[in-house]
Amino acid sequence: MTEARVPLAAELGARFEQAFPTLTPAQVARVAAHGRPRRIEPGEVLVEEGAQTTRFFVVREGEVEIVKPSGASEVLVAVCKAGQFTGEANMLSGQRGLMRLRANGPGEVIELDRERLLALVQTDSELSDILMRAFLVRRLELITRGLGDVVLVGSNNSPGTLRIREFLTRNGYPYTSVDVDRDADIQGLLDRFHVRVEDVPIVICHNDHMLRNPTNQQLAACIGFNDAIDTAQLRDLVIVGAGPAGLAAAVYGASEGLDVLVIEGSAPGGQAGSSSKIENYLGFPTGISGQELAARAYSQAQKFGAQVMIAKRARHLACGRKPYAVEVDEGPPVPTRSVVIATGAEYRKLPLENLTQFEGVGVYYGATPMEARLCGGDEVIVTGGGNSAGQAAVFLAQTARRVHLLVRSGGLAESMSRYLIRRIEETPAIVLRTNTEVVALEGSEHLERVRWRDNLNGNLETHDIRHVFVMTGAVPNTHWLDGCLALDEKGFIKTGPDLTPDDLTAARWPLARPPHLLETSLPAVFAVGDVRAGNLKRVASAVGEGSNAISLVHRVLQE
Ligand SMILES: Cc1cc2nc3c(=O)[nH]c(=O)nc-3n(C[C@H](O)[C@H](O)[C@H](O)COP(=O)(O)OP(=O)(O)OC[C@H]3O[C@@H](n4cnc5c(N)ncnc54)[C@H](O)[C@@H]3O)c2cc1C
Repeated sequence: MTEARVPLAAELGARFEQAFPTLTPAQVARVAAHGRPRRIEPGEVLVEEGAQTTRFFVVREGEVEIVKPSGASEVLVAVCKAGQFTGEANMLSGQRGLMRLRANGPGEVIELDRERLLALVQTDSELSDILMRAFLVRRLELITRGLGDVVLVGSNNSPGTLRIREFLTRNGYPYTSVDVDRDADIQGLLDRFHVRVEDVPIVICHNDHMLRNPTNQQLAACIGFNDAIDTAQLRDLVIVGAGPAGLAAAVYGASEGLDVLVIEGSAPGGQAGSSSKIENYLGFPTGISGQELAARAYSQAQKFGAQVMIAKRARHLACGRKPYAVEVDEGPPVPTRSVVIATGAEYRKLPLENLTQFEGVGVYYGATPMEARLCGGDEVIVTGGGNSAGQAAVFLAQTARRVHLLVRSGGLAESMSRYLIRRIEETPAIVLRTNTEVVALEGSEHLERVRWRDNLNGNLETHDIRHVFVMTGAVPNTHWLDGCLALDEKGFIKTGPDLTPDDLTAARWPLARPPHLLETSLPAVFAVGDVRAGNLKRVASAVGEGSNAISLVHRVLQE
């Protein structure tokens, strides 16, 4: 029984044309060349909600309804008429469908399976634009209206709820949220079912499975994020990590015909995905949020046929034999002829609860002219006792009224180069505060105040300082490599000319040629982005290296 007969799509206003465009007869004919015609009967269900097989339909005659089942009833989402088509972002990812498609009378459709649809969008740029835009606008609408098959019952005060919200959001997955703090009935209901506070959040997926405070991996499994991926297939290229570097490698690799699988331990986007606004990435003069950049890159990689495995961590690289194999959480090893490692690095963060609220709006992990301009002549804080902190302090002192250099230890002598210590001593604008650490950040839209503590006497001081540079270093995500590759003293992966003859001898480099530019001490294994020794730790350099690596992958695959 369909409850609402006015389709939700009618509320789209100006965006209706983008979400539900009508193809011209010539465009329909081009789709038809990739698919097969099919008669449809009144009431026939073409695709059931939650079905694994993704099929795409263009209506030639009659109508196809897109409905969202909701208990015993349905919500009418849209009605596709002649020239219009079904599908949304899951057509690219191969994930289960979120809607039921049903014929609203007799008619005819053109049917394409996912492989044929991908072939179409890769070869017909006009149709590719129309379909991609429609799929993405539709997915955005589903997210905005919470029209997914996941219900999250949680609380703003529970870290698990925030984690799952972030995971679903960064994976672009629609869900309905119920807040137990605001809905007394729900709290009562949970009490009756003996759901304890520590069980929150509760996640109901596919409208039937109930999970209590699931891990991201459990949730990904329940939603079926990776169901369409064949892990036994020998790949041309496995990319580990779906930050900017890994996604760039995926886009270039897949678009150049390689069979690419990306393995991502969490959600696409990496560190950049957590940046509220990236202002220095080429082509976005007013900036772009890290999440939006990642979402676009993720769709682009999928459009070219790259598969992305979500919430699966690479645990080990079987590097002693060929083909190599990447071992992942709870799954068989994935065999591959080449590997691009793009696992990034984790910036050491301040242990403050509300830190993420101010990242990019008062808390920075890099001190470049861009950040210096944001600070103008304000007072700033730099935390850290290493060379990166020293360099940042000296650099910022050129423009800032005062730089408070906060170090937890009693001095700089052990952790910083002598020349930097001298520069700091000679720069009156830098005030060195030893045995001192930041203990609180305050503000609303932007950081406004900082409290620090002198650990020798316990004194607390609060200052109206709007900029904190966290320069306490980054830890590379290389622990899973277990000695397969040559690393530098901090654990970053050495590549190309940085590999010394000793490194290559120790690694038993077997080829007559030296390693290529981004190649590690293991042939056909590359490292790109933040995880690579000497990388600049910028989105643009990660993207550049990810795309460069592909031309080298082609070369090694021919060896
Ligand atoms: C808050 C913040 C703001 C920033 N702002 C800017 C900015 O404005 N401009 C700029 O140019 N740069 C900025 N940066 C730096 C930029 O984000 C990084 O340089 C960039 O993200 C590096 O990309 P990457 O792909 O190499 O690594 P990452 O972005 O770190 O991605 C690595 C990915 O690998 C995954 N991974 C790790 N280990 C495994 C494993 N074992 N198995 C599977 N997957 C794994 C991670 O989950 C992650 O998704 C910012 C960084 C932060 C933290």
